[in-house]
Amino acid sequence: MTRDIGRVYLIGAGPGDPELLTLKAVRALASADVVLIDDLVDRRVLEHAPRARVVPVGKRGGCKSTPQAFIERLMVGLARRGQVVARVKGGDPFVFGRGGEEMLALAAAGIECTVIPGITSGVGVPAALGIPVTHRNLARGVTFVTAHTRDGAGPDWAALARTDTTLVIYMGLQRIDAITAALIAAGMGATPAAVIERGTTDKERSVIGSVSTIAALAGAVGLASPALVVVGAVVSLAGQRERAAPLRQSA
Ligand code: SAH
Repeated sequence: MTRDIGRVYLIGAGPGDPELLTLKAVRALASADVVLIDDLVDRRVLEHAPRARVVPVGKRGGCKSTPQAFIERLMVGLARRGQVVARVKGGDPFVFGRGGEEMLALAAAGIECTVIPGITSGVGVPAALGIPVTHRNLARGVTFVTAHTRDGAGPDWAALARTDTTLVIYMGLQRIDAITAALIAAGMGATPAAVIERGTTDKERSVIGSVSTIAALAGAVGLASPALVVVGAVVSLAGQRERAAPLRQSA
């Protein structure tokens, strides 16, 4: 179905489990003519887009990354042809997801864009393991950082170590040796730390230790991307939920 003027929904699909989609995302998918889907997104979300043509855009599966400029041009072109486009990204579209660039490109082209937030992996993945990232008395807040920047420069780990916030590091696994070395140098060697691969999915794997031990633990079990590194006292709460008394069965 086409209309005179198309539109784009910039949708966050949540951290992994397709049931963590929002109702708004489900409704937008149902209205879509075309879905542009990232690799990290579970294909089961497409059940909500029965009418749509599906275009995978992403860099896993051995292919090179679909260039960002190409994706932006594709969205603009489809919307100009009157199509309703659902652009589905992992987590939240504006947290290390380049959703901001896509919104700006659409705005520059005069295309209507609706942003549908999603649960970012940096909150949802630790939560599913029982790690409350801002737990009172253990953290003053939470800092989201990426270890991977375009210019290759890492963040100022020593400055981050002084913030007394939980550090949630996206795209950090490949550089975990350098990251943990910098945090150890900043006095955080004994701080609890976790690496969580494919959180909230049935392939989830994780290791929990301290900043000093976590790189070796992750290496020993061969954890792979996508993974988050979480550093802070709140990590010590992981798994508490399993230790809670079992709910009494109703008679
Ligand atoms: N927009 C996304 C992040 C995109 S960057 C969001 O809000 O979550 C991709 C990085 O996110 C991965 O390298 C990894 O660090 C993290 N990530 C995404 N999904 C994940 C998951 N299910 N488990 C662990 N880390 C995840």
